[in-house]
Amino acid sequence: MDYFDFLAYLIMSGVQEKLVAELGQKMIELFERGIENPDRFASLTKLSKVEAMRIVANYNKDLPTATLRAFTQALEREDEQLNKLFENAFGKREGLSNIANNIANNAAIGMSEIMRRQNIALADTQADIWYRVTAEAILRDQSGEARKDVIERAVRQLARNSLTTIDYKSGRQTQIDSAIKRHVFTQANQARNRLLFYRMDEWECDLVFTSAHYGARPDHAEWQGKVYSRSGKSKKYPSLVEATGYGTVTGLCGANCRHTMTPYVEGYSKLPNTDYSSQERLTGLSSDEYYKATQKQRRLERDIRQTKREIKALEDMGLDATKEKRNLRKQQAKVRRHVKQNKLVRDYDRERLWGVRSSRGYKSGKLIVRQSGATLETIISEYGNIEGMIDLEAEEIYEKIRNRNRVKEIKAVAKHSKLTEEEVGKIFNHVFITEHWISELDGSGLELRPFYADMPMAESWERLRTGINIQEHDILMLKHELLELEYMKKGMSTNAAHELANEKYNYQLAVKEWENNGNR
Ligand SMILES: [Zn+2]
Repeated sequence: MDYFDFLAYLIMSGVQEKLVAELGQKMIELFERGIENPDRFASLTKLSKVEAMRIVANYNKDLPTATLRAFTQALEREDEQLNKLFENAFGKREGLSNIANNIANNAAIGMSEIMRRQNIALADTQADIWYRVTAEAILRDQSGEARKDVIERAVRQLARNSLTTIDYKSGRQTQIDSAIKRHVFTQANQARNRLLFYRMDEWECDLVFTSAHYGARPDHAEWQGKVYSRSGKSKKYPSLVEATGYGTVTGLCGANCRHTMTPYVEGYSKLPNTDYSSQERLTGLSSDEYYKATQKQRRLERDIRQTKREIKALEDMGLDATKEKRNLRKQQAKVRRHVKQNKLVRDYDRERLWGVRSSRGYKSGKLIVRQSGATLETIISEYGNIEGMIDLEAEEIYEKIRNRNRVKEIKAVAKHSKLTEEEVGKIFNHVFITEHWISELDGSGLELRPFYADMPMAESWERLRTGINIQEHDILMLKHELLELEYMKKGMSTNAAHELANEKYNYQLAVKEWENNGNR
């Protein structure tokens, strides 16, 4: 999960499904009253907008504080890294302004304003859909269709269309979670660039280079990993705006662009490696082909989430979802095939519905994320029971590991894993000792602390230490951590580094598969 996805999680935690459920319940009530007294139907539907506004507002209560905290923490961290970079390149300098808080404040205000407008638009759309669906249902009922069929049809329509907003410019309908994710991402990106340019002005630095990744959008791949001049005055490097389209929707830092900029200091900065031949060998796909394949995977995942949403809405109201479940199995088979054909990794988190975790019997509630390095648990607690999120047993094992003789510990793991002692030492610190910026369990922001303990990881480590019954995924954990650590050293957030490391070494998935095969 990317840092910005995570912010959107904070904002939307479980809202979507709860809204569908509440609105659905309300609609059925209205519907029944409307059938009893069709004359009052018009006044009942007017109620719907008020209800929708109330329900939506209720879920966004804590938003301003949460966004401000998240933005502030992200920008302060960014600023720290920027200043470190400049100090290392140009030497220490006194009297730098403290601007990060200011920019974060403005970004948070901007976000609140967007959310306020979004809420109104959402309630409007909601009331519209409500009116349409209810009116049609009443008509069908009056024409003698079976009541059960009428209700099922209405709930299906509601689940399919609920929580979408319509972009008035393009007329396109977007699911609210994707819309909010985009808003958070844009706001954070703009704030980050404002800070970047401010600091660059301060240090009189004109050049930036763009990040680069395998599988980038083809028209972005052209300019990634290269140096550009902000002012456009450089004789050696092309103009940033002209070359990358920075500032436009389709260009650098535009909609859905995940590229970032870093100040470029001649003789000091190192450009990212854009030779992807090893990845190409691994997947058998060129960067462009890989981009296309992942885009298709995202589409298939969206379809799956949509069907899951429908199933949940139907089942919440005690209605039959057999047809939808059959459809879901077909969609899952499609993803499986696609992933296998293109040597991609199945991303279960993206197929999951926020606020729903049926396998463990949780009902929708507050979304909680627990980060443990190689694993990232998304767990929903019905009662918001944060204490229940901490795995005390695993924490105890971690504590024991911390208290044992470190030199011996690292030697033993190195011997059994065939990694070097230096590598294992780095991993040891990363997993058990180092403090990272990770999400607070109540979802209110980030905190600086060691990773939370995770039982599968504790068990993997114990097997690696004793050398008894070592599993393939135990080694995978070490490799994941090492790569994740490398990415974080390059300045990536914990989440982004985790996500990227997962592309090569997906420990969490390996554990799941191992457990599914009847182990443990
Ligand atoms: Zn891009």
